[in-house]
Amino acid sequence: MKVVIIGGSFAGITAALTARKKYKEATIILLEKEERIGFIPGTLYSLLNGEIDSLEEAYFITVEEMEQLDIQVSLNTKVESMDTDSQQVIYKTLDQLVTISYDKLILATGSVQNSYQIEGMESNKIVKYKTIEKTRAALELVDKNQVFTIVGGGQIGLEMADSLINKKRKSN
Ligand SMILES: Cc1cc2nc3c(=O)[nH]c(=O)nc-3n(C[C@H](O)[C@H](O)[C@H](O)COP(=O)(O)OP(=O)(O)OC[C@H]3O[C@@H](n4cnc5c(N)ncnc54)[C@H](O)[C@@H]3O)c2cc1C
Repeated sequence: MKVVIIGGSFAGITAALTARKKYKEATIILLEKEERIGFIPGTLYSLLNGEIDSLEEAYFITVEEMEQLDIQVSLNTKVESMDTDSQQVIYKTLDQLVTISYDKLILATGSVQNSYQIEGMESNKIVKYKTIEKTRAALELVDKNQVFTIVGGGQIGLEMADSLINKKRKSN
């Protein structure tokens, strides 16, 4: 059996590990569009609060650990389309379009911090920080600025308010 999983974050990685436990003989392939898997989105909070020291600590699993379990991981691999009749997925790597077949397909493509109901969401003054690149950019902005507006008063918004207060208090 060939299992193809799209998305290398919590859901996709858990699916791959579970499939490996359940189907010892299966070929398992994980496709991820970013250059690494397993980034922890709460990293900005952990860094600002001194719980971790560097972005290198921001991953909960590595490709090598997945490969040791005989799970194939393809990075910089963006799935462009799928055909559920012929059971094929088409993905783009840095330099080519590739078609692969599957017996079982798992979609673990998650979510992005975006709202189509708020105008101006694409402005580069709005920081979203779910990936490592965005987290890096957010860290720079936190260092350079004094006044922040947080959109969203749930767990993540409140955590960010808390860590900004702590950080600015320490630096004053
Ligand atoms: C700042 C922040 C802090 C958070 N803190 C917490 C917390 O403390 N506790 C908690 O429980 N939850 C937290 N969450 C929520 C948690 O991050 C999400 O619930 C979780 O990431 C969802 O995992 P997922 O695997 O379903 O999707 P995602 O993490 O969104 O992963 C989807 C993956 O699919 C990849 N992908 C998407 N499209 C394609 C494609 N076409 N081809 C190939 N790959 C693709 C993406 O690159 C990504 O790696 C936080 C979220 C944020 C943004």
